[in-house]
Amino acid sequence: MQIDDSSLEGSELDSDATLPGISEGEIVVIRSKRRKRNVSAYRAGGRIVVSIPARMSKADERAMVPEMVAKIRAQEAAVTMSESALAERIGELLQEFAPEIELRPADVAWRAMRERWGSCTSVDRTIRISDRLKGAPDFALDYVLYHEAIHLQYSDHGAQFKELLERFPRSELASAYLDGYEAAETALAVPEVLKKLLNNPG
Ligand SMILES: [Zn+2]
Repeated sequence: MQIDDSSLEGSELDSDATLPGISEGEIVVIRSKRRKRNVSAYRAGGRIVVSIPARMSKADERAMVPEMVAKIRAQEAAVTMSESALAERIGELLQEFAPEIELRPADVAWRAMRERWGSCTSVDRTIRISDRLKGAPDFALDYVLYHEAIHLQYSDHGAQFKELLERFPRSELASAYLDGYEAAETALAVPEVLKKLLNNPG
């Protein structure tokens, strides 16, 4: 599992956005032959799956999908930590596990990142956290926050970085969670396969 690639800048991440705040590949639209009228949407790994009737027109699809995605996002926002709460949490984690790091992030934000769990640009002290972690258990979110926070001081994954990261008490559990999440995502990686499965169950 790789949390990030600390040598990359964060700014390229939004370049392939297809809808505001939505990166390509995040939304999977499934046309279901079984479905007659109703539309449903749910979160599956890092993706939002919108299931629509097979016969729905393209125009209706274009109108319906952003609406359903907005609905899912609103539900998630209700239970998601605010960005200022993320920054505060980073401060707590550093104080607890790496008090020698006095740097604090200038800006912390959620981002639609599919390839990485987080990123830290040490030059301007910005930390980005993948919105795939919005529903994650605390220990997994903390682990990624702490990882990125150490990058404020150490930009690579060298010995000093590792020594600090190892102080995180539930790192094995957190790694297992993130690996499991990625495995589940990989299983959903090819929308064509997913479509087939959902349209022809069994
Ligand atoms: Zn890293």
